[in-house]
Amino acid sequence: MTESREVFRYTSPGVHRAPPALLPLLGKDKKEGDGGETKGGDGFEAAPPPLRGLAPVSRARTVAQAKRDERTDRPLAFDTVVLKVHSRCNLSCDYCYVYTSPDRSWARRPRVMEKPLMLTVADRLAEYASRHGLDEVTVILHGGEPLLAGRDRIGFLAGAVRAAFEGLATTVHLVLQTNGTLLDVPVLRVLDRWGVTVGVSVDGGAAEHDRHRRYPSGRASHDRVAAALDLLRSPAHRHLFGGLLCTVDLENDPVTTYESLAEHEPPVLDFLLPHGTWEAPPPRLPSQGTPYADWLIAVFERWWADSETRVRIRMFDSLFRLGRGGSSLRSDLGTAPVTCVIVETDGAIEVHDNLKIVYEGAGVTGRNVMRDGFDGGGPVHEKTCAACARCPVFTICGGGTRAHRYRAVNGFDNPTVYCADMRRLIEHVERRVSAWVC
Ligand code: SF4
Ligand code: SF4
Repeated sequence: MTESREVFRYTSPGVHRAPPALLPLLGKDKKEGDGGETKGGDGFEAAPPPLRGLAPVSRARTVAQAKRDERTDRPLAFDTVVLKVHSRCNLSCDYCYVYTSPDRSWARRPRVMEKPLMLTVADRLAEYASRHGLDEVTVILHGGEPLLAGRDRIGFLAGAVRAAFEGLATTVHLVLQTNGTLLDVPVLRVLDRWGVTVGVSVDGGAAEHDRHRRYPSGRASHDRVAAALDLLRSPAHRHLFGGLLCTVDLENDPVTTYESLAEHEPPVLDFLLPHGTWEAPPPRLPSQGTPYADWLIAVFERWWADSETRVRIRMFDSLFRLGRGGSSLRSDLGTAPVTCVIVETDGAIEVHDNLKIVYEGAGVTGRNVMRDGFDGGGPVHEKTCAACARCPVFTICGGGTRAHRYRAVNGFDNPTVYCADMRRLIEHVERRVSAWVC
């Protein structure tokens, strides 16, 4: 992916004009002078490009894929595989859903995915993609911190995946999701060789980021991440820059956070809500109003009024698309089944990685890629609770991430713990878009 495909730019500002990012999503044609000139100038492309440079990635299937499945009555297949290349991390973020959750399975798993397993994963995935006629598959190299596996092993895995799919009709998108602290030129050379794009987790500027994302010694990590981002946006590596992931922290100013992230000129960025359940709610929930919606709306308004280069924000793109009957670019919005599966360092197959926050084993499937390959289970539509079924924004909200619905008394048969926030955010965005459309 290149910069021109994913960064939206304006030729002339205007806060009363719909953001150019909205035009293709709303089905509006580009017109001379409306801020939507095509690339080569400061324009944008007519259709939103796929956002493959971040993890978690889209659960939206391609139109071609969906049509083929309808024709053949094939069961819905996984099209995104998260490979836990290394089960440990060099940072010690205090909100980490892996190391601070009730699920301690990471401590019993091998530290690193061994090469024989990598080869098996690549071969089994290629067989699966071929059997299901998948047009596209996204493979996310993840952790812990995947770069702890070393650049040679990362290159081995990426090469194995490329080799396994050689000659197949399936397009493979390889993505590395990293905390950025170990990203350097030699690593980028390996990633470039195998066409691996890079998503980096960063929570804003130094003040915002270092509030939580520190080394076990307590040392701050932002300086290392910022250096990695400078490398990624340099001309030599820009084509590998997938995007940024930021976890929302109510203690951080939303506008300052957005502006700090935008300074890195990512092709796309996204905001993640901190994990929580009804049993262990996120800060200030459930009783203190809609603080997360308020925070995100502040970002949205700043972003909407932006008159210079506008970064794409996957959350807002998803809300626009879903509001117009389209598909989500995130797994926690919309009503489509999650088409993503996790492979741990021992080959165990899990679903919903963030279910680790609920209880030990909540995401276990009992399958292992060495024994079972990728068949034997597939994406399913999740049951909708009664409150969500009646909700006017259900098709956009979807009831939230499964883990965020958990309550000890009735399991996952609940709206998300972010229910009030999601409704307020969705209605705000819809009002803004409708006001422009009318
Ligand atoms: S960098 Fe990611 S995996 Fe590592 S501690 Fe932080 S949140 Fe967890
Ligand atoms: S806003 Fe609340 S009730 Fe509506 S779909 Fe989302 S979680 Fe369910």
